[in-house]
Amino acid sequence: MSLQARIQDVFDEPACDKNQAKDAKAKKKGCSKPLTPGAAAGGCAFDGAKIALQPITDVAHLIHGPLACEGNSWDNRGAGSSGSDLWRRSFTTDLTELDIVMGQGERKLFRAVREIVERHAPPAVFVYATCVTALIGDDIEAVCRRAGERFGLPVVPVNAPGFVGSKNLGNKLAGEALLDHVIGTIEPDDVGPTDVNILGEFNLAGEFWMVKPLLDRLG
Ligand code: SF4
Repeated sequence: MSLQARIQDVFDEPACDKNQAKDAKAKKKGCSKPLTPGAAAGGCAFDGAKIALQPITDVAHLIHGPLACEGNSWDNRGAGSSGSDLWRRSFTTDLTELDIVMGQGERKLFRAVREIVERHAPPAVFVYATCVTALIGDDIEAVCRRAGERFGLPVVPVNAPGFVGSKNLGNKLAGEALLDHVIGTIEPDDVGPTDVNILGEFNLAGEFWMVKPLLDRLG
């Protein structure tokens, strides 16, 4: 499914009365105004996708774009983890003007996945598109597929470049990436009768440390 078609699909919200009351034209516009690339720091679709998936703490999160899209990954946002802190490193391909002019984006992305696998051996790599790499037409899905086959691990494309819309839309597109590439692909060997999966909770100010004891008391 193309990114355009995927966005139209997530703009249809059968459970939301407000959404269902809109005509086709209004529905097409989504629920919030798209932001301007470069003027959206902290609130673009990429940002929303990243914060939704960052709580998957033991995978490598690789941002394909200029490093300023990610900024200071170490202390920027939180995530509760019972072990791994790999999520805090948030890798970028650090795309420069020269890379763009020379058409090096896809090659640089492939090499970045290889370097991450060799140095950190994560169970999976999540690759995020950003405005620049989407505008120059880098096919992150094809590169992820090839890297996954070559290095023998899931390499998950998260196609939510900043300009497609709001942070909230990015949250949704990240969920779609999980549905397409993660959920249902493997059966965990440690499931219990009372397991709960919480997605998108990034423990911003330590809220999750308050919620977890309640879940523990519930069993
Ligand atoms: S993805 Fe686009 S809007 Fe988001 S931080 Fe990067 S350049 Fe800015």
